[in-house]
Amino acid sequence: MIEVTSDEQLVALLASPGFLLNVDYRTRDVKLHSIRCKYCDPRRRIGVKPSSKSLNKTGEFWYSYNRSEVNSKAIEIAETRGYKYHLCSLCNP
Ligand SMILES: [Zn+2]
Repeated sequence: MIEVTSDEQLVALLASPGFLLNVDYRTRDVKLHSIRCKYCDPRRRIGVKPSSKSLNKTGEFWYSYNRSEVNSKAIEIAETRGYKYHLCSLCNP
């Protein structure tokens, strides 16, 4: 499990298979994506922006190649913080 704190770090991970958790402090959501989802590419307009979220302390991102590991992390965050856990409806991980 790797915490992703910059756009550059996420772009480098796009070449690997795996999963990304998008934790949003304001909406209190945890969303699971396949790393190949178009929302996971910071270079796209609709893509997530880890640098901005990290800088503004509005959220965090976690990457793992292992779906069960990332799933456990999502459940832990959802339970300890009272966030809602969703699967992305676009990439359907
Ligand atoms: Zn997705």
